[in-house]
Amino acid sequence: MSGEATGERTLRDVGEFALIDRLVADIPQSDFVDVGPGDDAAVLQCSDGRVVVCVDVLVEGKHFRRDWSTAIDIGRRAAAASLSDINAMGAVSTALLVGVAAPGDLPATWLAEAGAGLKEEAANAGAVLVGGDTTEGDAVVLSVTALGSLEGRAAVTRGGAQVGDVVAVCGRLGWAAAGLAVLGRGFRSPKVLVDAHRYPVIDYTAGPRAATAGATAMIDVSDGLLADLGHIAAASGVAIDVHTEQLEVPEPLQAAASAYNVDPHGWMLTGGDDHALVACFPAKKKLPAGFTVIGVVGESPAQVTVDGAQFEGSAGFTHFA
Ligand SMILES: [Mg+2]
Repeated sequence: MSGEATGERTLRDVGEFALIDRLVADIPQSDFVDVGPGDDAAVLQCSDGRVVVCVDVLVEGKHFRRDWSTAIDIGRRAAAASLSDINAMGAVSTALLVGVAAPGDLPATWLAEAGAGLKEEAANAGAVLVGGDTTEGDAVVLSVTALGSLEGRAAVTRGGAQVGDVVAVCGRLGWAAAGLAVLGRGFRSPKVLVDAHRYPVIDYTAGPRAATAGATAMIDVSDGLLADLGHIAAASGVAIDVHTEQLEVPEPLQAAASAYNVDPHGWMLTGGDDHALVACFPAKKKLPAGFTVIGVVGESPAQVTVDGAQFEGSAGFTHFA
């Protein structure tokens, strides 16, 4: 619904400068920010001489729908996608930048709420929004750049897994997918699963914790556990076997799966969007808090198997598929 049709103030009414001012208004104090929003560029502290950086783009109609999700949830998800990637390098997020394209008739409150969601998720990760830009476009597009610090640690890439490592996960697997299945059947409960589909719940301290504990490789699960483990297998040149008996099925997934007569492991192995962290650790090392073993790393070929066999069914979301 356009703002002009409902009589609300639109982006065109408010104007670009007021929009940016609103988005970056009231940024909290941060040790990382020397010069905050309001100048030509922000100036950030860089404690160990390296900056971790990534960007994620969300497009209306492709990644979200304004009639299905609230602006605040979309803002949270947009921020979480980038902040989770910083986490997956073993870094802490320090700052976010947001680029927005939107139709001129978009209600100005929509963007204000999306900005609020973005800042809320940034605060969960200890980061602040230090800048933004808006421009007119046909659909709503949110581009979020996150910056982070390794605090002296080595980055944990996808390429360091060693034969004999264990594979361990921290966070939710399959919750968002189960929530989507609930909504797809026209239900609104269990609320905990529907909420998991609305936005992820992420432990932003888990990445640095895994790095400190000696993780050899790590990735966040955005496309599905098997699909994302496939990236570690390919980058490290190793085989990974997931053991379903070690994948404990949480109660809400168990309940939904028996109600719909499906195997909950399908959601856990292939569901994306929960942004759990999956990492490899030397078998003799003590695992960091919150991580649970779900598999092992073996000799090449670079592939991911489940209980020693190829997984039957789609291994996760593939972009442009
Ligand atoms: Mg990622």
